[in-house]
Amino acid sequence: MRKNKAKTKTELKKLINDWAQEIKVTPKQIRVQQMKHKWASCSTSGWISFNFDLLSKSKKFQDYVIIHELLHLQIPNHGKLFKSMMNIFFPDWEKYESSF
Ligand SMILES: [Zn+2]
Repeated sequence: MRKNKAKTKTELKKLINDWAQEIKVTPKQIRVQQMKHKWASCSTSGWISFNFDLLSKSKKFQDYVIIHELLHLQIPNHGKLFKSMMNIFFPDWEKYESSF
């Protein structure tokens, strides 16, 4: 797993791909773009978009947003299963939840 934070769009996409492999999900397309109100979003067709401003955030926060959104490709809600998956891949998730 990469330890350095992503500082460019390319590095962020690489980090997203690394996590996708780890979580075993396959996003159809990954976009990094300006977003006004959200850190990330996903569509039912398997597209995920990440906010360009993530590049200025900490590695931990980047990981959190990436894992959260990638898990939505498998689990569309924030139910029990979603939480137990977050516990596996990002045990600190509750600390970051409010900032999402
Ligand atoms: Zn969510």
